[in-house]
Amino acid sequence: MGNDTDAVDLGALPRWSERLIDRLDDEYGIRTGELADRNFPDDRPPRWLQGTATGGGDAPDWIQSFCLDADPAVRRLWVEEGFLSADPAWLETLVTGDEADVARVFLLTGNVDDYAFSPDSGYLPAIDRIEENAAKRKDWVIRYSLSNGFERPVRGVATPDDDPSPFDDLEIDPNGDGAADRTRSPQEALDGDVRVMEELLERSYDGGIALIVDNLHLLSPPDSANVNQNVVTDAIQRWARSPSMFQSENQVVLLAGSSEGLTRDLRSASSHIETIDVPRPEDRGDRLKFLAALYAGGRVAPMSGIRLDGATRPRFDDRFGSGITEQLRTLAERTSGLNLVGLENLVLRVNAGDERQFTTEYVKRAKRDQLAQESGGILEVSEPDPGVDPESAFEGVGGLDAVKERLIRISDLMERAGTSETVRRSLPSGLLFLGPPGTGKTLVARAFANACGVNFAELGNIRSMYVGESERNLSQALDLIRSLTPVVVFMDEIDQTMGRRGSGDESGVDRRLFARILQFMSDPELDGQVIWIAASNEPTRIDPALKRAGRFDLTVPFVRPDAEARRSILRVHLRDRDAAVDLSAADWDWLLDRTAGYTGAELERVAKEAIWTELSASGGPADVTVDGDSVRAALAAYSPPANRREFRRMEDDALVEVTSVDMLTESQRERREQLVNGE
Ligand code: ATP
Repeated sequence: MGNDTDAVDLGALPRWSERLIDRLDDEYGIRTGELADRNFPDDRPPRWLQGTATGGGDAPDWIQSFCLDADPAVRRLWVEEGFLSADPAWLETLVTGDEADVARVFLLTGNVDDYAFSPDSGYLPAIDRIEENAAKRKDWVIRYSLSNGFERPVRGVATPDDDPSPFDDLEIDPNGDGAADRTRSPQEALDGDVRVMEELLERSYDGGIALIVDNLHLLSPPDSANVNQNVVTDAIQRWARSPSMFQSENQVVLLAGSSEGLTRDLRSASSHIETIDVPRPEDRGDRLKFLAALYAGGRVAPMSGIRLDGATRPRFDDRFGSGITEQLRTLAERTSGLNLVGLENLVLRVNAGDERQFTTEYVKRAKRDQLAQESGGILEVSEPDPGVDPESAFEGVGGLDAVKERLIRISDLMERAGTSETVRRSLPSGLLFLGPPGTGKTLVARAFANACGVNFAELGNIRSMYVGESERNLSQALDLIRSLTPVVVFMDEIDQTMGRRGSGDESGVDRRLFARILQFMSDPELDGQVIWIAASNEPTRIDPALKRAGRFDLTVPFVRPDAEARRSILRVHLRDRDAAVDLSAADWDWLLDRTAGYTGAELERVAKEAIWTELSASGGPADVTVDGDSVRAALAAYSPPANRREFRRMEDDALVEVTSVDMLTESQRERREQLVNGE
């Protein structure tokens, strides 16, 4: 090993492990400095290098082949990022929880349908990873799912070849006279399966049995009125408490995509079931590690657990940088929110295209589609425009000067939030945009995300028709949001989408959704990482709990623009459409006078109408100049609906609610005084 005196002492290791570390040390110096810190946290080699999992025997195939044969640039990237160290943390919890007798029944929820890393096999589906690991610890591993029934038992690595399978002497045929038995009803079949599980778990093998049940939510649905459907729930609860389970080495691992899809009985703290959350990839590192494995090069052992293997990898266009390391880093950076299966989908789709090349636009679009699909359509995500500074982010917003100024200050702070706890904690957790429709609330929220240079996620209506479904949607969306950080989350019409607690909805779903969001919002880990913006035309209908300090605590007024603001909004929309403006001072006076009381959205219509008038007069595509005549024609053709009084009321409601009076003009402040004092 290296002679450097500062080198970490890794203690006694199997021969193959020492050889591998030596080799990487010669190449990169991984036993010293930062690389050592990253790859051997606490100066300890990861489990796989200690060889404990394999009884010290052989090196795990895949990772050994990666360390020796991967494309040199990709291998270097791996070592530089400290990827040698990791096993997924949730797997570690599953193993140590079993070894320390914390529980016998484990419920894994969240990102369980994703890939997980394995030193032996590269990446493979999480459930296969659990099986692979269990086979090293237990005598037998048995998998069950509603669709496949029992799969052939997997022999533990230490189980002698001539030991009979646990199915051999079962009293009941595990697959009920084979799948061909059509005489049993689905319910009878399920009851039979549960009896088989019980029989298996009564066995006392020295090393124990691991029973892995997939898609638990299909077997044990929430709030089932059908007593028969509670058979599974009942059995699981019994196992979790049973003293004989604790005396044995048996372990039950249940997988369910979202714990909201399960009956509450399994989630209660008194159930003795240990729930482990499998998170989505949370930072770019998780995605980068996967990408590096995908791009390891043809000499590395194949990963049989993933779909992409064997196919050629797509290339990258210039904007991803030069060289594979930079390209993979850029791709990992731009794919926040995707899990590993999502990332693989992306690669597969690019591969199926004619160009077989990643482009920035493609990644953006594909990411947006994928996240919308995963969240059941309730989350729409867009990325910030690259290289926009906070000032120019608001260029498309006319008027609203005080609002823009305040938001620019917040975005400056957000940039510094990463380095300072004080800054992080002093950022508002939520902004409430109040005012009539069409006054630019959505526009400004988007511009704000752009100014901060972070993702913009629009959370749609989470209340869907089916009980349970809306909770599942929300929980999925919140997981996605967590994996998109830093992010601005926007909820439009919050008075409707969030409802009001106890507002006539008997199922209590609303209340639970509500509580879930409030709980998420107050997670200190997300301070400065998630900025919530909610918008509403009807502030009096928003539940007061949302407005309390620490939630949506900064209220921002949106009122219809005054004359100067109208001028700048009209200019923005004419400029956006490349129209030249030839309006005299008198034309402007007339125009601004005529549009008093118009919203931003209505002014946009006026601008469009004027351009359209010019275009039809000139009879074709040409450079357009909007002049006095075209604006007169536009206003003769378009008059907004006569709901001014409603708008006025909404503005008044907004003014009363506003807490930050520094964002009000003099006249708005006066109006607010009047309203508050009931004049
Ligand atoms: P709603 O309550 O209906 O969601 P909103 O306040 O969110 O309304 P936006 O969707 O932001 O309104 O505005 C609609 C359109 O009106 C915007 O896309 C933009 O083109 C235009 N608009 C509104 N306000 C402004 C403004 N201050 N500057 C420029 N354009 C504006």
